[in-house]
Amino acid sequence: MTELGDGTRCVHGGLPGPTPGTPLLASPVLATGFHAGHPSYGYGRADNPTYRALESAIGALDGGECVVFASGMAAISAVLGLASGKVALPSDGYYLTRTLAAELPVAVVEVPTTGPWPSFDGVDLVLLETPSNPGLDVCDITALASAAHAAGALVAVDNTTATPIGQRPLELGADIVVSSDSKALAGHSDVLLGHVTCRSADVAAKVRHTRTVHGGIPGPFETWLAHRGLGTLDLRLARQAQNAAALHAALRGHPLVSDLRWPGAARDSSYVLAAKQMRRFNGIFTFTLPSIDAVERFLARSELVTAATSFGGLHSTADRRAQWGDPVPDGFLRFSAGCEDTEDLVADVLRALSTSDG
Ligand SMILES: *Cc1c(COP(=O)(O)O)cnc(C)c1O
Repeated sequence: MTELGDGTRCVHGGLPGPTPGTPLLASPVLATGFHAGHPSYGYGRADNPTYRALESAIGALDGGECVVFASGMAAISAVLGLASGKVALPSDGYYLTRTLAAELPVAVVEVPTTGPWPSFDGVDLVLLETPSNPGLDVCDITALASAAHAAGALVAVDNTTATPIGQRPLELGADIVVSSDSKALAGHSDVLLGHVTCRSADVAAKVRHTRTVHGGIPGPFETWLAHRGLGTLDLRLARQAQNAAALHAALRGHPLVSDLRWPGAARDSSYVLAAKQMRRFNGIFTFTLPSIDAVERFLARSELVTAATSFGGLHSTADRRAQWGDPVPDGFLRFSAGCEDTEDLVADVLRALSTSDG
């Protein structure tokens, strides 16, 4: 059979077979302990059927063995734990990844997402992010993997912004995918979760061991919520990308808007590479307004766009990243297009940006 489509795989991934009288989506298993004698399920911190169900769904999409974690940072922490010497990180990616690495007993080299990268000689692990958060720069995963593998380094890609149906780093040559599923994967702004998917079973076993001994396990209920959310990822991403495309077109040339970026737009500097390595685009785009005041006015006047950090959820949100210390202009906004009707959202954003009080 040819490979099933994204929507079908999101809806059916990780679900049990049709046993009469059992639920379509199995309920969360909250157990601490299980009756002894089962090969996997003994004590809840080590393994749990609710984890396995979501791991099976995400692993099938990513194309490797998945291990779920309590948050994206718990997942990143397990990946950084695979390195003992030197780690290469993006200079423009998620800031807490750099904060965490600086506190670990490893040496860190910061490299730009787009390259050119320095030699990876002596580096154990390269962890890049594409498209990067918040810059939306795109890294050529295949080129990165060959440069890093030539130096004997493992390659991990933070795939949070793209999601498992937007990009498959393992197929492009990476060894590890790491993601915050608190964003688009779970998608409803009501759960923190993360995962690591590995090409090799040995690396996955190390990551699973880290989870067991460090104890960064997700709650079964949160895991179940994320699995429920994953069911509609394809639908949500389609609407979000459609909304981002329409907003990008509406904001292009707007007098208050500069540095408008969306990797899905043909004129964006990331487009050629993004179109080559991504399977589809998403709803995250960025632009800059002239000042903090202009951002505050925009957010106060909009009825549909909520000021909130995070992204990828049902609701459209915008986040002024300079307030969190990202190296961006004061008026820089990361906008996450939600699942509202396109016409409503475009009209609301244009109204909120208009200089008249109509
Ligand atoms: C949010 C985010 C993280 C951290 O994930 P949490 O679930 O908040 O711990 C890591 N990487 C990227 C790219 C993110 O956007």
